[in-house]
Amino acid sequence: MPSLEQFAKSKLAALEAVHRRRVLAETDRADAIHVVRDSRAMVSFSCNDYLNLTHHPAVKAAAVAAIERYGTGAGASRLITGNHPLYGALEDRLAQWKGTEAACVFGSGYLANAGIIPVLIGPDDLVLVDALSHACLWAGAQLSRGHVEVFRHNDVDHLRALLESNRGRYTHTLIVTDGVFSMDGDLAPLAALSALAEHYDAWLMSDDAHGLGVLGDGHGSASADGGKIKIDLQMGTLSKALGSYGGYLCASRPVIDLIKTRARTLIYSTGLPPASVAAALAALDVIAADTTLCRRPLDNARAFTRGCDLVLAESPIVPLILGEEARALAASETLEEEGFLVTAIRPPTVPAGTARLRFAFTAGHSKEDVARLCTVVRDRILPQKS
Ligand SMILES: *Cc1c(COP(=O)(O)O)cnc(C)c1O
Repeated sequence: MPSLEQFAKSKLAALEAVHRRRVLAETDRADAIHVVRDSRAMVSFSCNDYLNLTHHPAVKAAAVAAIERYGTGAGASRLITGNHPLYGALEDRLAQWKGTEAACVFGSGYLANAGIIPVLIGPDDLVLVDALSHACLWAGAQLSRGHVEVFRHNDVDHLRALLESNRGRYTHTLIVTDGVFSMDGDLAPLAALSALAEHYDAWLMSDDAHGLGVLGDGHGSASADGGKIKIDLQMGTLSKALGSYGGYLCASRPVIDLIKTRARTLIYSTGLPPASVAAALAALDVIAADTTLCRRPLDNARAFTRGCDLVLAESPIVPLILGEEARALAASETLEEEGFLVTAIRPPTVPAGTARLRFAFTAGHSKEDVARLCTVVRDRILPQKS
């Protein structure tokens, strides 16, 4: 066998042996909540479509109208001819929504993080990363060639100690964290991080992929307590609660101007299709018109955690840590038998020994859906947990 195929096969066999091989399962989402897999109809608790806007009539209509007016693709990078008029409108709306001077939209959240950090950080600089930060923040930090230090998850004292002992040796320092942690659903201590950043002349960047649209009446985790925490770089995605596709950064005007001049993932990648940008704009309209919609995912998550005697949810994401990979896979299969799609999350997405079920609650899940899920989890999953 040629060496390339031999390499691929042996790699796959090794992953299979530890239950870490992954396969794509065709999933037909007929609406925002109901899915069909292998001819089995299920209620999904695995979509990040928190407000069910992927299937909202006004959002779909805006995408269709954008295709009719501007075509299916952007035609080029934004800096060449791909900067269709919808971009400016969306960036103004995002900046206004997040309370910053300006915004920049990217091809995806991953591309945003991979592009932003290397513009701001170089070999003489320091990046401090929360241990459970999303993979694309790590990618950005690594691409920057700055010195990377990891602080223990949500551990403000550890971060302070690292700043104290390292800050003086580097020109610039960037602190990066998820606002809502994608696999644990807990919130970063943003107010404390912001105060530390101020004190040590560091820049704070939060990735609020799971906060926009669901916390702080839709404004995100920086507004979760009602106030507005100062965060220099507020990054997020259009692909979750907004039901579209793409990423963004909200920041001051000079920072955004620099990002638009230098971010390689913006410069060397084609602009988003007009339909995606129009859908995100329409989604922001829906959210602004009905902020009660934004509260429902968390209300549903809390109903679930109360019903199952789990730690009270802080966001629409609820983890149920089961330990070994095989256990999480078996639990996911059990739920499928009961008509619920709850994907198992395994290493390296989460640390070894913490394979889990990850429940994502949305606005449209009914009380009955949540109650029945709770019953099944109590009867069939929790007894096997300990
Ligand atoms: C999903 C996610 C991203 C990536 O966003 P995409 O737009 O899907 O590329 C980035 N950060 C976090 C925390 C995420 O959960």
